[in-house]
Amino acid sequence: MPETFEIKSALDIPAHLVGQVQSKLAYVDEHIAAASISPDGQRIQLELTGKLESAEQQALEAKVQSVVEEMAKGAVLPKVEILEDHLVRPTTFDQDPMPELLSSGEVSEEHTGIFSFGPLLTRLIEVFERQFLALADEFGAKPHRFPTLISAEKLGRVQYFRAFPHSLTFATHLRPDLDVINGFSQHAAYEAPNGLNTAPESFSRIQALLSPAVCYHLYFALADKPLPDGKLVATAVGNCFRYESSNMTTLERMWNFTMREIIFVGPADFVLENRERARQYLEKAFEHLGLAYRVESANDPFFVGEFRRQAAFQNAFQLKYELRAQLPFKNSTLAVGSYNYHQDFFGRNLDITLPDGKPVHTGCVAFGLERMAFAFLAQFGLDPQRWPTPVREAFNE
Ligand code: AMP
Ligand code: ZN
Repeated sequence: MPETFEIKSALDIPAHLVGQVQSKLAYVDEHIAAASISPDGQRIQLELTGKLESAEQQALEAKVQSVVEEMAKGAVLPKVEILEDHLVRPTTFDQDPMPELLSSGEVSEEHTGIFSFGPLLTRLIEVFERQFLALADEFGAKPHRFPTLISAEKLGRVQYFRAFPHSLTFATHLRPDLDVINGFSQHAAYEAPNGLNTAPESFSRIQALLSPAVCYHLYFALADKPLPDGKLVATAVGNCFRYESSNMTTLERMWNFTMREIIFVGPADFVLENRERARQYLEKAFEHLGLAYRVESANDPFFVGEFRRQAAFQNAFQLKYELRAQLPFKNSTLAVGSYNYHQDFFGRNLDITLPDGKPVHTGCVAFGLERMAFAFLAQFGLDPQRWPTPVREAFNE
């Protein structure tokens, strides 16, 4: 029996924040194995990794209450703008595809949040990739290849550590020291469930992380100089990493996933017009593929201390829209892509300038390929005979 612990929330968490507060509870304390908040926002149910002393329990409760307070106190209802509503499109499946994906060997979990895919998912992802590449072509987007590692120095310059500390993944290596390396080679062992038995002092200081997004690499490449033609459209696909703690249970939230991005850099109107054109293009593409979804305003998953201010700012200026696909088996939606506008944030912080000397504006269209495939299978199942014809035909090409 798992240990459970219920907390009466010190303030009622408004309905629009229940999901976002709940996902942050996974980062509050290592004793929390799972957390859920009642729909009325009044009770918080925690599943613990083991029994706690009463003092520990009190300390944990205080941490939970402080998160609720920082995220929800004085929260105002955001303005939700719905740009497209295609949630009621007919679909052919209403089960969770995950058990069958696992039992058929189509998905295997190498480690929590780390998954390998077989031919069905690989080919299905290629079908979606072709749509995104056609969109990129429409804009004459220039192709790029970006590394999996990302510079700690550059991420610091764009204040990533303040906004998203909880989901970072760090890259390190053994210190270049004969004793350290020999010691490691002789004694290193994986000790379940804690991990490698190596002392932290054996590892170098952090210079690089595993990249959390694709478009940052383009901005870093453009940093500290004028943008040659004053505008640029680029595209790339890349491995992304976001540590989602105990929220990583299915393909919905992975530690390592892939994102395809189309990136716009230039004056404000250029970025905004292209973001809108991309949305209209994809609206037709997704209609053709038969996907049931909605596009609505959203905010990034900022960590607790930054959440209220930054989410309100994004909402006030409608900086982010998410394409949320229907998941019939749980009667909810999952963000599979986003349309983002960063104003001149990257231009200012990285000193990328327009011909008139002002900072560039940037925006991106970003789709998670595994989530696209997962949402599609949740709507249409694993049997291609039950898929919309255009997807089945593209799949068989
Ligand atoms: P974002 O930059 O946060 O808007 O993310 C862009 C897209 O990446 C999302 O719409 C998802 O499809 C995908 N994504 C983000 N986080 C994850 C994750 N932990 N696991 C799988 N896909 C993700
Ligand atoms: Zn981006």
